[in-house]
Amino acid sequence: MAELKLSCHCGKVRGVAHDVSPSIGNRLICYCESCQQFPIKLGKGGQVVDEYGGTDIYQLPPGQLKITEGVEEIRCLRHTSEGLYRFYAGCCDTPFANSPGPGMPFIGLLHVVDSQPEQRDAHIGGIRAHVNTVEATKPLPKDRKYGLAMVIVRIVSQMIWWRVTGRAKPHPFFTDDGLPIVEPEVR
Ligand SMILES: [Zn+2]
Ligand SMILES: [Zn+2]
Repeated sequence: MAELKLSCHCGKVRGVAHDVSPSIGNRLICYCESCQQFPIKLGKGGQVVDEYGGTDIYQLPPGQLKITEGVEEIRCLRHTSEGLYRFYAGCCDTPFANSPGPGMPFIGLLHVVDSQPEQRDAHIGGIRAHVNTVEATKPLPKDRKYGLAMVIVRIVSQMIWWRVTGRAKPHPFFTDDGLPIVEPEVR
């Protein structure tokens, strides 16, 4: 099992995703407009998404992600009051992760905080799916058009398994009472 060492751009916020492997979690590219907006709102537009507006995301169980340094720098934004919780490092506005909340125990970790991107394929495997492809900023090549149904089936069964095996908790971004560790800003 491998470990993903995580860091914001300036290095104040650090973390680790432990016991990862290509068979655990889901690595996907999401092209949804909301994922595109997240870095734009932090002033990091072109530095996060690929040429098609896609974000490389690794979905993993909350209990396998730990923020080891700089947790006081973590900020939360939601595009709407019902939207996904999106967490970033306020020290340097690095987008970090998204979460639907503690009721659906998975975290989508953004590729930009992976300190060893050259090891990414070895640690967590290749891209399993491309999702929300209709919102891509330009037509996608044929090999990028697959996967949403498979990802939904996979993540739902994984969440059940993670709950059973105790990996849904602790959640790095929510308290045991189910509240986000910082008040979300809606913008
Ligand atoms: Zn930082
Ligand atoms: Zn998205």
